[in-house]
Amino acid sequence: MSLSKKATTPVVLGMDIGGTQTKIGIVDTTGKVLSFDSFSSLGDQAFPNFVQQLQAKYQLLIADIPKECKVIGAGIGAPNANIFNGCMEKPHNFNWGDLVPLVSSVEETLGIQAKVTNDANLFALGEMTYGIAKGLKNFIVMTLGTGFGSGIVVDGKLVFGHDGMAGEMGHINVNPNGRLCNCGLKGCLETYASVTGIKRTVFKLMADLQVASSLRSHSFEDLTGLMIADAALDGDPIAKRAFEYTGEILGTKIADAAAYFSPEAFILGGGLAKAGDLLLLPTVKSMNERLFKAYKGKMKVLISGTGTKYDGVLGAAALAWEHFGEGKS
Ligand SMILES: [Zn+2]
Repeated sequence: MSLSKKATTPVVLGMDIGGTQTKIGIVDTTGKVLSFDSFSSLGDQAFPNFVQQLQAKYQLLIADIPKECKVIGAGIGAPNANIFNGCMEKPHNFNWGDLVPLVSSVEETLGIQAKVTNDANLFALGEMTYGIAKGLKNFIVMTLGTGFGSGIVVDGKLVFGHDGMAGEMGHINVNPNGRLCNCGLKGCLETYASVTGIKRTVFKLMADLQVASSLRSHSFEDLTGLMIADAALDGDPIAKRAFEYTGEILGTKIADAAAYFSPEAFILGGGLAKAGDLLLLPTVKSMNERLFKAYKGKMKVLISGTGTKYDGVLGAAALAWEHFGEGKS
């Protein structure tokens, strides 16, 4: 058999650009990560530096996979990324300009075709391809981390809207006179249902209630979602109430979203979702109290089963397979 006839195995590059770290991996069709690395993407470095680092790491990754593998494209997740123009638009925490030409830079530098979308959409794609949403066609993912991200899947497809910005549920309103959000609006869901949000709730409760709490010895900066979860499990009244309040608000907005999309499931991920039932039980209770009767008993709220270092990379790989897989390119 001549070399030219030797079969090649298509693989993709998955890349997850975060505020502090970028993770990259070569992934096969089954979701197996063949090689993986990460490097600093701290926002104070210039964008050309970032691209240079990426190129060097990519060369190392492809040197590390079987010779018959051929990278057919790249999927990228990045904050404020727009799949339509391939750019990051005004990304916070990055010093890369207002419109960062991510896709064209990756395509030029690495010589492979690329697609980009935001991290919450990647989470949805990852769950649908490799995770808890396998087989589901209509679902909504919500990531409760430092902020609140969401991705909406209808009929097996991510919803992008006319400009690529659909699914920013973190900034729907919970209370018109509520907490001031980073975005400039008041009372956004993100200011309640996120790690930062529950910390704000804990501090509000500590100010309002004269009860003992182990959380009183921490500063706002030091306090973590995990500490609040641990305190709640130990019976701390402030921590328990904070989870109930967070679930109450989240469940209300989930009940609203049910009316827009009638999904089969809502999947919760991110740091706060690691609290499991502490978050899930009050959320489901609140959702059920507010759900229109036509939807009752039909909506599941699930905690994401993932949470490995490969998550973002796998979601990005799923994006690449969707666009560049067999018969797509
Ligand atoms: Zn907001």
